[in-house]
Amino acid sequence: MQYQSTRGDRQPARFRDVLLGGLAPDGGLMVPVAYPRVDRLLPRWRALSYPELAVEVLALFADDYPRAELERLVRASYTAAAFGDERITPVALLEPGIHLLQLSNGPTLAFKDIAMQLIGNLFEHELAYRGEHLNILGATSGDTGSAAEVALRGRAHLRVFMLSPHGRMSAFQRAQMYSIQDPNIHNLAIEGSFDDCQDIVKAIGADLAFKRRHRLGAVNSINWARIVAQVVYYFRAYFAVTRAEGQIVDVCVPSGNFGNVLAGWIARQMGLPIGRLVVATNENDVLDEFFRSGTYRVRSGAETQVTSSPSMDISKASNFERFIFDIVGRDAAALRELWWELDTRGAFHLRDTPFGAAVAASGFVSGRSSHADRLATIRSQYARDGRILDPHTADGVKVGRAWRRPDVPMICLETALPAKFAETIRAAIGRDPERPAAFADLESRPQRYEVLPADAGRVRAYLDAHAPEADHA
Ligand SMILES: *Cc1c(COP(=O)(O)O)cnc(C)c1O
Repeated sequence: MQYQSTRGDRQPARFRDVLLGGLAPDGGLMVPVAYPRVDRLLPRWRALSYPELAVEVLALFADDYPRAELERLVRASYTAAAFGDERITPVALLEPGIHLLQLSNGPTLAFKDIAMQLIGNLFEHELAYRGEHLNILGATSGDTGSAAEVALRGRAHLRVFMLSPHGRMSAFQRAQMYSIQDPNIHNLAIEGSFDDCQDIVKAIGADLAFKRRHRLGAVNSINWARIVAQVVYYFRAYFAVTRAEGQIVDVCVPSGNFGNVLAGWIARQMGLPIGRLVVATNENDVLDEFFRSGTYRVRSGAETQVTSSPSMDISKASNFERFIFDIVGRDAAALRELWWELDTRGAFHLRDTPFGAAVAASGFVSGRSSHADRLATIRSQYARDGRILDPHTADGVKVGRAWRRPDVPMICLETALPAKFAETIRAAIGRDPERPAAFADLESRPQRYEVLPADAGRVRAYLDAHAPEADHA
């Protein structure tokens, strides 16, 4: 499989090249030149275990990896020990016709672990093979950071520099990241929103000389390998809720950076019979606005609301560019023009353009959930069967219920466990969620982080001091 940039750069690249990189050199995102169609493979794939299926999917996109090596890395990543269940992503029934795809039983209790556990192993393998070191620069709204840090802590070839919005994550999320004491992990608490953090990462990544000098790589959802790893569970979920190929399912995905639902879009492009891809947002409803109106209007960091589903407090969805690239027929010039409009006017409009029809035909629909909706959904599910939904998952279930069609199974994605967001759970049902024993004393562990202003210059200075040019971590 060859890769190219959404902005047009076609320097030949394979999976091994895009694995360690962040943005493409021209500022775009790396995408495969085509999505492989797998319609005819589905009956055979139906019988596979999660790791077996992951190998099949990965092998299509990473055909420059020896298959035996992929198998070894996948098996090491997806174990019952790490995910609490050998099915890795089991499916539960929430109510007739509405299923919950459980993605959050990994080491940090959010769906990010599924990709990140594999990424940790892929990175280490690739860097050891090359005899190289890498400095990971990332931004997190809460869950990517801990998933990445847990997957990469103590790794000899890697240092992690993770920007998080100071004071905007739950106490559990903060403690999860900041209590990691490994010297290769650096937590930078930025005085701003997640979008500010992401803008800083982008600004630094766009400086190619700096990026090369400091050997910077990415683990944010712009990293292509993360998307591929997530494609796997859409297939697995489809097989879990259907009996035969040809049956259609709808999926509903609590969305922020558009990385999770993009993997669903790719599964659909590969031939998985997904009818509707339902995007659920919280009060930060940029994506809902787009799918309802055709206008993509990003907000500034200052306009981003702080909500009780904080991992979705995102107003500029970096993976959206990969979707729009497909919508404009993979025409990089058209894509560049839209992003020029976005950068200069803060918005672009597709409804009355030739691309509006492509959006309408994409299967995407959307909905928005508020704090009150979130609490009501947590409450109603708890009253029904005693299950406690995490606030983000509740946003998805709220919107998924609204889009439910008779005779089409709706699969709602569980993106975190409620233990991470006890404050909101208490507000909804007046009791604490259970927390896994390993996290019993989490908030009382010593924390280690550096507070910095939302200023790319200050972050560069920190990297100059801690990610030296000839890195030997
Ligand atoms: C990251 C995250 C999301 C948003 O996922 P995207 O891939 O950014 O759209 C939703 N819920 C939780 C709990 C998350 O951690």
